[in-house]
Amino acid sequence: MATALLIVDAQLDFTEGGALGVAGATTAFRRIAETIQAGLRDGTLAQEHPLIVTTQDWHIDPGDHWSDSPDYVDSWPVHCEAGTPGAELNPIISLALRGVHPDRLLRVTKGEHEAAYSGFEGHDAEGAPLAELLRARGITAVDVVGVATDHCVRATALDAVSAGFQVQLIADQTAAVDLGRGQAAIQELREAGARIL
Ligand SMILES: [Zn+2]
Repeated sequence: MATALLIVDAQLDFTEGGALGVAGATTAFRRIAETIQAGLRDGTLAQEHPLIVTTQDWHIDPGDHWSDSPDYVDSWPVHCEAGTPGAELNPIISLALRGVHPDRLLRVTKGEHEAAYSGFEGHDAEGAPLAELLRARGITAVDVVGVATDHCVRATALDAVSAGFQVQLIADQTAAVDLGRGQAAIQELREAGARIL
């Protein structure tokens, strides 16, 4: 069984102080980076996670996903505009990934013209969808981390289950916009068949 590490939306705009900062994001990103660095140090990374995928919200014109009066459930302040610094990965993550061989990294963007909470709505630079990219590399399981537990992490993990992947959520490497909704999302994922670590 080959397992990909799926790092969801570890972007500057979702970091505390960003356009749509999520409390706890920095802590989650540090834990993700530490795990990657530990795996690089002891040589187990390529075995545990032969592929690392980063997803990025990459909005050009996402319609009513952006709002001047957001409800923080279905509409949000302007965030992760394609090509802006806020849409870049947090350096905590990008620096950790520098040690990973480029063949083992996959960058997926999503939401150019729609909300796209799930990484499975995303694609690589050539437009190939995530599920197809994972299958082409023999990936049968995914470990999901990142932000936000109650939105993009939830949607990505649920789609991964639906697409037939074995799914683990590494809960302490995620952060939620709303703690109650985050807990509800974890319960929903458990019921959908994901393993929660
Ligand atoms: Zn968005």
